[in-house]
Amino acid sequence: MTGSSKARNPRPGPRQQRVLETIGVQIWVPRRAAEADLSAPAPVLAPAPVSLPTPEPGSEQSPAQVRAPAAEADAASCAWVALEAEVASCTRCALHQTRTRTVFGTGSHQARWLVIGEAPGADEDRQGEPFVGRAGQLLTEMLRAVGLSREQVFIANILKCRPPENRDPKPEEAKSCENYLLRQIDLIKPGLILAVGRIAAQNLLQVDTPIGKLRGQVHEYGPARIPVIVTYHPAYLLRSPGQKARSWDDLCLARRIVAPV
Ligand code: URA
Repeated sequence: MTGSSKARNPRPGPRQQRVLETIGVQIWVPRRAAEADLSAPAPVLAPAPVSLPTPEPGSEQSPAQVRAPAAEADAASCAWVALEAEVASCTRCALHQTRTRTVFGTGSHQARWLVIGEAPGADEDRQGEPFVGRAGQLLTEMLRAVGLSREQVFIANILKCRPPENRDPKPEEAKSCENYLLRQIDLIKPGLILAVGRIAAQNLLQVDTPIGKLRGQVHEYGPARIPVIVTYHPAYLLRSPGQKARSWDDLCLARRIVAPV
């Protein structure tokens, strides 16, 4: 990192600060900022006294109980930061030689629906975000049709790197990348997985069954038996718009199984 880019780094926000403190990174406050704080006028108004309700006898939480949710959230934040960094520097398969950027996935870490596609295409490889090309726009519209924004779900792929010429992922590439997706699933703990397209569905369910036969049923994933609904890939729907009604049925089935928010 160059000296000038260091100087431009913004100070971390409160959440980032907690994550950095937890992973043992010391936060330095520039001296000038500290001096500026010291010379700032003292606040004129004292905060209004807050009256806290008296806890019911026996209902008090121990300090450990009070700290637990915040500590859990910080541990999860650290795990996300570490996982994203690991993916960004991954060289487990040959795709790292041809990628522009890794595509980690985006959305809510608390999402109830996890959308899983196949692999980044050219647009995603350039931008580092999943489903941002034409197929991605259709996926966004499909989600909106069931009342969801992209920010309310988490969107990821079987592969984090683009296969050249958008060829199908090779089994060994899917295997190399599997652990990243497993860890994402473990962190999100989604209520439902929406597998978009044959490649996503067959890899998740470890079957060779054609997509037409996988649709319309509720499958299960992993020991937590997360419900999986399979639907057509939006790129296929762009080529075969007549199948959009079937995809709509799949989304309605998913919504009946697990309310998305
Ligand atoms: N197709 C996918 O399966 N995933 C993307 O991220 C983009 C296109």
